[in-house]
Order: sequence, then structure tokens, then C-alpha cells
Amino acid sequence: TIDLSIAKLQFDDISFSYPNQPFAILSHFSLTINSGQHVGLIGKTGCGKSTLLNLVTRTWEANSGKILINDIPVDQLDEATLRQTIAVVPQVITIFSDTLKQNLLIGNRQASDQQLSDVLHQVELSKLLATDQGLNLPLGQGGRALSGGEIRRIGIARALLHNSPLILMDEPTESLDQQTEQQIIELIKQICKNKTLLMVTHRLTDNPLFDRVVEL
Ligand code: ATP
Ligand code: MG
Repeated sequence: TIDLSIAKLQFDDISFSYPNQPFAILSHFSLTINSGQHVGLIGKTGCGKSTLLNLVTRTWEANSGKILINDIPVDQLDEATLRQTIAVVPQVITIFSDTLKQNLLIGNRQASDQQLSDVLHQVELSKLLATDQGLNLPLGQGGRALSGGEIRRIGIARALLHNSPLILMDEPTESLDQQTEQQIIELIKQICKNKTLLMVTHRLTDNPLFDRVVEL
């Protein structure tokens, strides 16, 4: 079995092309991210950064090569283990027309109300709890409108509820103003202290977050 308190992530000679596409998106890509390391992934638009993250979560399967977590190929991990090991903050975060609570439970259906308020506090969204409705505050269409920064914080809160040793983030500061961006970077720094982080970014301002930046 796999130790879920740490996560080493390895790409070993990965090649990938989308079905029925003649050209390879990734060709012989290798990278090792040790447990607790924070790596930034940069590269031109369309070069395959999001695709690479989707290979880790097995949304797609590599044509050749291996992706390993703690030396175990991801295709040998069952769905439940994979989900416990990896949390994802996607490039586009969807807010559903439902309560704050339901919007957070997408991260972890088992989370208690206490855990939900704790995580809201952690991502500095406690102010959403300030109404009489508390966790039942409606979000999305017809509900409380959220700013770009608040939406990112919801995405990060969902990932935190996962409580996994590995976090994959896809452009979590994209299209935020400078001040909000700095706040989100600070938040990511705090929450990833004991986690392995692979984060797609195009901003050099994210640099202080990383032990290493890799160009795809
Ligand atoms: P960006 O910085 O704009 O987010 P990216 O590096 O994340 O770009 P990807 O989304 O990984 O790029 O896409 C890589 C390439 O694969 C692009 O040319 C894209 O058009 C193509 N692509 C993405 N998804 C699919 C798909 N489902 N089927 C076919 N081609 C796809
Ligand atoms: Mg992308």
C-alpha cells in the first residue's frame, strides 16, 4: 500500500498525443518532484501544461512512459487512492447555483460543518459566513456574487478539504489583479508548507513559491 502522508511525483519518459491527433503534445518528458517540493511549470500557451496535469489524474493516459507516485505507477492505483493522494485546483473553477456548503463539499463529501468553516477561515473567506444563512448562503446564479479572487479561494478550499499530500494547481493566479494575486500566492505558500506542489503558471511573480521552475 501507499503512504498517504507524503507524495513523490515522477514523470518518466512520458509521450502523449490526443486521440486522432497526428502530433505529439508531450515527447519524452521526464521530471522528478520529491516529497514536499514545490515546482512551477511554465511554457507557451497550448504547449501541454494542463494536459500534463490531466495525465497525473488519469483523465488521459500517456502513450508511453510512466507516471509514478511514491514509486507506484498511477495506473496501478485504484480510484479511491488516487483521489486521496491528489488534490487539483483546476484552471477554471466552477461555482454551482447551490449553497456555500454544497459548493465546498465537492472537495470532500465527508467534511463536517466545522471542517468547512475551518477551511473557509484558512482561505480567508470567513466573511461569507457572516450572514444569518451561514453555510447555507446561496452562491452562483441568483446567489452571492463572488469576485475572481474569491472564486480562486473556493477552489483552493475544495483542494484543502481533500487533505492530500500532493496538490496540482493550474494557473491559480491567472487574470487576478496584482494585489489579489499576491494574497493568493501568500495563501498557497502557507497551505502547501508540508505538501508536494506542481503548479502551472505563466507569471514570474509566482517565483517565490517554488523550489524549482521547469519549462515545458
Ligand atoms: P494554456 O497555457 O493556454 O492553458 P496549455 O499548455 O495548458 O495551454 P493544453 O490545454 O495542455 O495547453 O493543450 C495542449 C494542446 O492540446 C493544445 O494545442 C490544445 O488545443 C490541445 N488539446 C487540449 N485538449 C484537447 C483535446 N481534448 N483533444 C484534442 N486536443 C486537445
Ligand atoms: Mg492550460
